[in-house]
Amino acid sequence: MTELTSLTIAEALEKMRGGEISALELTEAHLARIEDLDPDVRAYLTVTADFARGQAKAADEARAAGDERPLLGIPIALKDVLSTKGIETTCGSQILKGYHPIFDATAVARLYDAGAVMLGKLNMDEFAMGSSTENSGFFPTANPWNLDHVPGGSSGGSAAAVAANMALAALGTDTGGSIRQPASFCGVSAIKPSYGRVSRYGLIAYGSSFDQAGPFARTVEDVARLLGVIAGHDPLDSTSMPTAVPDYLAALAGDIRGLKIGLPAEYFAAGLQPDVETAVRAAVAQLVDLGADARELSFKHADYCLPAYYIIAMAEASANLARYDGLRFGAHVDGADLIDSYKKTRGAGFGEEVKRRIMLGTYTLSAGYYDAYYGKAQAVRTLIRGDFDALFDEVDVLIAPVAPSTAFKFGEVTDDPLRMILADVLTISANLAGICGLSLPCGFDAAGLPIGMQILGAPFTEERLLQVGWAYQSATDWHLRSPGIV
Ligand code: GLN
Repeated sequence: MTELTSLTIAEALEKMRGGEISALELTEAHLARIEDLDPDVRAYLTVTADFARGQAKAADEARAAGDERPLLGIPIALKDVLSTKGIETTCGSQILKGYHPIFDATAVARLYDAGAVMLGKLNMDEFAMGSSTENSGFFPTANPWNLDHVPGGSSGGSAAAVAANMALAALGTDTGGSIRQPASFCGVSAIKPSYGRVSRYGLIAYGSSFDQAGPFARTVEDVARLLGVIAGHDPLDSTSMPTAVPDYLAALAGDIRGLKIGLPAEYFAAGLQPDVETAVRAAVAQLVDLGADARELSFKHADYCLPAYYIIAMAEASANLARYDGLRFGAHVDGADLIDSYKKTRGAGFGEEVKRRIMLGTYTLSAGYYDAYYGKAQAVRTLIRGDFDALFDEVDVLIAPVAPSTAFKFGEVTDDPLRMILADVLTISANLAGICGLSLPCGFDAAGLPIGMQILGAPFTEERLLQVGWAYQSATDWHLRSPGIV
């Protein structure tokens, strides 16, 4: 049974089309794998076994009747930030315990419409705030490559589930790096789409001007397959763009001769783990061998990304999280009066990191400080967007490491919130500018932990990123290695 869980989506579809396996068998294999391994990895917050079996049976019947939808019978899992109708959705927080949404997020509905089978909801940092999944309000998730290490965050459950073969693919979200960084820590492929590419309807908001959902899978080809399903305009999200969705799978062809690659010098600076730098530079050399052209460039306002991001993200979070009042969603703690109930519910329901961010965000939005912090950060954001516009006038894509280091150990960084924040120093600029970024494995460190590189592109150039990533994976086999946990 186990080998059914190490298939790519492309392989699984072929086997189902050929009648070699059924969607139900594929689903059962995954449920068995989850039962075996998840007590150690802890990627899942909820396993929806019966729901998945029902969808798998329906997929088998549909296929027998000639249905050929793009994800028919494919077992996937969802970060618990995505609303699922009638299925508990906690966003990794105690305050949403017991919350059962009355609708599906658009990205989820589109996966179902394409025939996907949903295995369950995945662990994450509470409200997607963090870089290690240690901020989950429930329990931490382990890195399948070494269970003493974190899987990255905030979509740590999504990356770990795919890496440990407990789902063929998963959705996560990226506000400041939360798709790309855990993909890199766990050695899987994943894309943060351009802002507006995928509907945010039903995605529980953290930083609304940054949040984007995107797929994790074992290959760039599978990532392309999922992105094609979830992308596109949604009348329910006014920030989703009406731009046409290209055929991402069809883009995976041809060569990359003449492709212009830029390496931002600031992203290869001091503080980078040496073997991370070596692996990413070797990957670039490989792309040059395939016919691309690479040169070093400068990203002018790189130093300002981190402060601008954290000011704006916390401000947006403080506003978005005001709705958790104990009356409308999830948990409620009785108090002496209404205000006391709010205080008790929010005091018990939110974790430390979430409280810290609500306080900081409220501060930067307050009358006396708004201009000094929030207003300034927005002005800086515009400069950063301008930097990227100028860079993409010169090159087609930028390549950089995803994170300054490989996966760290549990507890190693938790006492130092600033160091945790530095885990995102290379990813957040993409969110500030709304551009897209593909994360893919490009090597291992001395301890055997995966290293990832990111390929960044101008807004709505996902097609090109996927083509470059596909060309790289066609010439290398890093993405085919698996952690080998039993
Ligand atoms: N680690 C970053 C943060 O805590 C990014 C998180 C994310 O992308 N959701 O804000």
